[in-house]
Amino acid sequence: AAGCGALVLIFVAIGVWFSWRPESEAHDDFSAAIRNGEFIPYYQPVMDIETGKLRGCEVLMRWRRPNGTMVSPGQFMAYAESTGHIFDMTRSIMVQTTQEVGQLYEENPDFKLSVNLFAGHFRNREVIQDLKDIYENSKISFQQIVVEVTERYPLDDLDLARKMIAEMQAMGLRVALDDVGTGHGGMAYLQKLGIDIIKIDKMFIDSIGDDDSSTTIVDSMVELADNLGMGIIAEGVETEDQIDRLRELGVTAAQGYFFARPMPASEYIAFAAKVEED
Ligand code: C2E
Ligand code: CA
Ligand code: CA
Ligand code: CA
Repeated sequence: AAGCGALVLIFVAIGVWFSWRPESEAHDDFSAAIRNGEFIPYYQPVMDIETGKLRGCEVLMRWRRPNGTMVSPGQFMAYAESTGHIFDMTRSIMVQTTQEVGQLYEENPDFKLSVNLFAGHFRNREVIQDLKDIYENSKISFQQIVVEVTERYPLDDLDLARKMIAEMQAMGLRVALDDVGTGHGGMAYLQKLGIDIIKIDKMFIDSIGDDDSSTTIVDSMVELADNLGMGIIAEGVETEDQIDRLRELGVTAAQGYFFARPMPASEYIAFAAKVEED
């Protein structure tokens, strides 16, 4: 009976080892990827659809594996957020923006650079120090930075988030509420957080024109933004028809595949030069 017990113990030990191993390996893998600089910023232009000029860009993270494959955030962001790796990754992305597009931003003081934060960034003030450390002595000024916070996931301490947003605004940054209309916050977030800009989710842009309710929703968002003194950006714009509709509704800024996909820094810099020429 003792031998049998020992055997069971051995099996249990092997089972535990196998069930733990993949996770810890994935973890090490991910830490190494951060150290190796595999997480890089891509830049998606944001256009002024009245003038055709470039307003700036949104910074979107990509994982460039050593074998060259490019992985989109959908495949690693949930893991990065749940493990806390996202904090280092965000810092790394921000540092890279100062190196890659600092010159472009110094030459174009009106350009905006939007950086995505996640709900966990609003659980303590660390990110404010990061923003200071990284951008204060860089060629990108606080006035050029927009911080995006999504309403897709709940903020667990609204009061702290409100204070942090006010602090960022006092530094000169602007704050955008992302994915408006899809998530938890809705009107409460707009009112409580003191948001500067709202981003209309692609979901509404997709069916604008051929769906009366989407058109009505976008129309009311524009009115709301106007009344609250906020800016508005439409995202996920893919067709000329959508641009026309947005113009009719009074939206002046848009981003989407119609203009450009997210791209590496060198291409974004070339894109900016090209738009300037036209
Ligand atoms: P998001 O912030 O809503 O970013 C917009 C997403 O829509 C991006 O996907 C962009 O590539 C995509 N997109 C833009 N225009 C179009 C279009 O015309 N058509 C279509 N089909 N898609 C379009 P991406 O880059 O895969 O990022 C997905 C999400 O991952 C982002 O959604 C954001 O929530 C998150 N994310 C990306 N980078 C970061 C980051 O650095 N930090 C954090 N916390 N989240 C990030
Ligand atoms: Ca965003
Ligand atoms: Ca969005
Ligand atoms: Ca979206």
